[in-house]
Amino acid sequence: MTTVRGRFAPSPTGSLHLGNARTALLAWLHARSVGGRFILRVEDIDGPRVVPEAVAGNLRELRWLGLDWDEGPDVGGPVGPYRQSERSAFYDAALERLGESGRIFECFLSRTDLRGAASAPHGQGPIYGAAERERNRAVSSEKRGHKEPALRFSVGAGPVRFTDLVLGPQTVDLADAVGDLVVRRADGLWAYQLAVVVDDGAMGVTHVVRGADLLPSTAGQLALFDALGLPRPVYAHVPLLLDASGER
Ligand code: GLU
Repeated sequence: MTTVRGRFAPSPTGSLHLGNARTALLAWLHARSVGGRFILRVEDIDGPRVVPEAVAGNLRELRWLGLDWDEGPDVGGPVGPYRQSERSAFYDAALERLGESGRIFECFLSRTDLRGAASAPHGQGPIYGAAERERNRAVSSEKRGHKEPALRFSVGAGPVRFTDLVLGPQTVDLADAVGDLVVRRADGLWAYQLAVVVDDGAMGVTHVVRGADLLPSTAGQLALFDALGLPRPVYAHVPLLLDASGER
């Protein structure tokens, strides 16, 4: 039997809030309850939003909660580094691999260009479909050479199916729900979607326990796992902590 490998992957944009702490506790409990290993990965690729003090701060907060991890930025481990800011070589390699399969394209459309597009749920931005691809084709020759493109992954047709350990069977038509995914932004930053898949894959993560706010990202991530030939982890999306008025 393969050993369970769980993880918690905070973005160090400030102190952990109660919801993060609860998710960390559940992910840790899951791994520990089955004798698995627990990995701590710091998701500090979103340069402008990262608060440097929060990297060490988040680890301190988790230790204060009584959690421990077998692999992480402070304790090392066999599949590090455990900070995304130090893992660009892995993302480059994945991008190259996806490019070879013909599923990466340059996108010159700006946020303003995309304003008219339908919106994907949960702040994932506009749905990038046939109309957007067409508009991109129309502007690319004029913009190439003057403007850095974002790189997108073509999600293709057909539904993505998976069974969430908490929410049960899920079927998502990626093209309808989100469309082609940004994997590298026009400003050169890696997109969360690519980094999280490459890292969960390279770190051998078998179980992802995380907040239900990330459920809408999962199908796209699975499409990336498949395209990269990486084994899919099992997901458990746990309900968010809400106050009496339903706010996070
Ligand atoms: N870094 C992400 C966040 O803090 C979590 C990523 C994940 O669990 O997949 O929202």
